[in-house]
Parts: sequence; structure tokens; C-alpha cells
Amino acid sequence: MITEEELRKNYEDVLNNIKAHAQKVGRDYSDIKLVAVTKTHPIELLNLAVKIGIRTFGENYAQELRDKAKALEGVDIEWHFIGRIQTNKVKYIVPVAKMIHSVYRFEELEEIDKGAKKVGKIQDILLEVNVSGEETKAGLQPEQVKDFLVSATRFTNVKIVGLMTMAPYVEPENARPYFRKLRILRDELKVDFPDIVELSMGMTNDYTVAVEEGSTIVRIGTALFGERKKLK
Ligand SMILES: *Cc1c(COP(=O)(O)O)cnc(C)c1O
Repeated sequence: MITEEELRKNYEDVLNNIKAHAQKVGRDYSDIKLVAVTKTHPIELLNLAVKIGIRTFGENYAQELRDKAKALEGVDIEWHFIGRIQTNKVKYIVPVAKMIHSVYRFEELEEIDKGAKKVGKIQDILLEVNVSGEETKAGLQPEQVKDFLVSATRFTNVKIVGLMTMAPYVEPENARPYFRKLRILRDELKVDFPDIVELSMGMTNDYTVAVEEGSTIVRIGTALFGERKKLK
């Protein structure tokens, strides 16, 4: 596991990069939230991250999120769910998640709405958009988002506050058109859906470019914590 000193250094580097690339395009870097992605990492690592001042964490697996939230109960942490959603596991996510980034099927939204009603909250949600059109990527096609938003207005306990995407794994500069496409889509949708403000885009490989293209939330694991163990 990474040492405290290494983590402090990585955290500082990431914050400095966000700041530099925001300033480069005239953005206020305080408009950009850093979600520290801790999937597959142990509780000890999260404790270390909390110790150095990180308070916003992203997790990909429902039970892992539930277990980590339980282990860190009482600590002032904001949890983001960024993984694939299985409708039967929504019950583990909704009670703890500040935001769910990766919604793109209507059944998921329906289940989240039900779960949110049960625990008496309005769940903040982002819609995942497949801007690259890659078949391996999840998400709505850009042209489907508007209809989805219209249909979603009937749910009372979810609030869709923005869009999320994963760019193809390419040279960062080559990811730029995909980030730009998501930003333009957000700007268009905002006219009729003023809640659509957030842009969750940018990971270790490409967050500096995403910040330049308007990202409001970056999701970063490796640059902070080092390589993850490969899942089988
Ligand atoms: C794992 C993951 C990240 C973080 O990836 P890194 O390359 O380690 O920064 C971000 N977003 C999603 C959706 C992920 O699954």
C-alpha cells in the first residue's frame, strides 16, 4: 500500500494539475470536484486518505460501497457511486451515495427512485452518455438523452443534475473531442433542463484535458493511489 508521504505528494500533484489546467482556460478551479476512486482498495487506504484531508470517494461495487461506508460511519465523507448498476443492488447504494454517476437505463432510475422514497431522500444522479459510440462502453447515445430526461420528470425522488462519460483510452489530447461533445450536449440540454449542470469527466489518463473542456467532477484513482490489483 502507498505510504502517507507518497499519497500527500500525489494528492498535491493532482490538485496542482487541476488548478493549472483550469487557469489555462480561465476557469475557477474551485468549480471542480475531485472524486478519489478507491475501488478494490482496503479500508486502511481510505483511512490514510481521510487523514490527509480527502473527503470525497468514488466506488464501483455496491456491496463494497456499503461495507466501506459502514466501516467509516461517523466520518464526514461524501460517497459517489460510479460503477455499473444492478437493480437488485440499488438498496446498498442509495442510503449512502451523495451522487450516482452511471445511470442510463430506465429500470435503474425507477429502482433508485423507489429506494430514495424508502429512505426519504432526493437522490442526485448523473446520466452516463456514450459519446464515443464504442460498443464496449455503456451509456445513452447523445441523441437519446433528451427523451430520457422528459420521461424521467415523473420520478419525484431523483434529481438528474448532469452528465457523465468515459472517454476511450487514447492519448489524452485525442480524448478532447469526446469531452467537448459532452459539454456541448450539457449546454444544449440546460436550456430546457436547468438542473443539468454537472459534467463528470476525466480520469487519471485524461483529467487535465477534461478540465480544460469544462469538467466539473473528475474521478481519479491511479494518480492518487497507484495501480490497483487486477480483478480476475
Ligand atoms: C476506476 C474508475 C475511475 C478511476 O480510474 P483511474 O484511471 O484509476 O483514475 C474513474 N471512473 C470510473 C467510472 C472508474 O470505473
